[in-house]
Amino acid sequence: MNILRYAHDVSQTIEYHKNRGKKIGFVPTMGALHQGHISLLKQAKTDGCFTVMSIFVNPKQFNDKKDLDLYPRTLDADIAMLTDIDNDLLYCPDEQDIYGQDYRDEIITLGKIEHLLEGKMRPGHFLGVAKVVKRLFEIVGPDVAYFGQKDFQQTVIIKKLVELYHFKTHIEVCPIMRESNGLAMSSRNERLSESSRKQAGFIYQTLQTLKQDVQHMPLSAAKQKAIDSLNAHAGSITEYLEIVNGNTLETLDYLSPALHPVALTVVKIDNVRLLDNIYL
Ligand code: AMP
Repeated sequence: MNILRYAHDVSQTIEYHKNRGKKIGFVPTMGALHQGHISLLKQAKTDGCFTVMSIFVNPKQFNDKKDLDLYPRTLDADIAMLTDIDNDLLYCPDEQDIYGQDYRDEIITLGKIEHLLEGKMRPGHFLGVAKVVKRLFEIVGPDVAYFGQKDFQQTVIIKKLVELYHFKTHIEVCPIMRESNGLAMSSRNERLSESSRKQAGFIYQTLQTLKQDVQHMPLSAAKQKAIDSLNAHAGSITEYLEIVNGNTLETLDYLSPALHPVALTVVKIDNVRLLDNIYL
């Protein structure tokens, strides 16, 4: 695996492979890799891509400095995992390489989708995500970029970014990888106590029950039942649970396949925010 630290080298290397007819498959991450991240790379490999992963803990998307400081950094273990699955190129820049003299800061107008749900809980977060992904897309120029359904709102933001800046990148949204009890894999799971991590499968179980309930209950009643069920677990607080249009993120009053309904939730356990979602 080729490991590069500078944008210029990455662009040059990728240009070389593009000129030889390779399709570039890109997986942007913040490292502390787990099988969720690796599943995105595997998909890129299956699609026949020259695979590029970036690892960069992006300060602009953290509205809480403590959260940024606490974010796990495990580069050596990450490199070992990437070598194992035969990733082609790893780009691990420092802040200067991303936001240094070549960076042009600008206003990115994402509209309403930026301020709903996660955007409400973490002001500025998606603007930070959009800024770093725009910069990374400019450096890498991917044909396909792979994102996890786990961060559902992020996938909506990225599709909007592609539309706004006319990137020729196809956005592939990949399924959520889960631990054996159903808990969505996340670098943040490491911060849970052992017993909380074991129990936290109830979040996905509740979403699955909700998916059944909405078939025969009014949406508001099914939603309230799910929230009550999540909150019934000791030490668990539901920050939000919303049933939304999967394209616009607007709250739905009724279900129809044309509205791409999805239920999104964040449950806080041990002060760790756990995101999950399910298509309804
Ligand atoms: P992160 O390093 O948390 O920014 O995540 C990098 C990419 O991995 C994002 O597109 C995430 O949505 C994706 N991802 C994170 N967790 C999972 C998971 N459990 N299953 C699938 N994709 C995931």
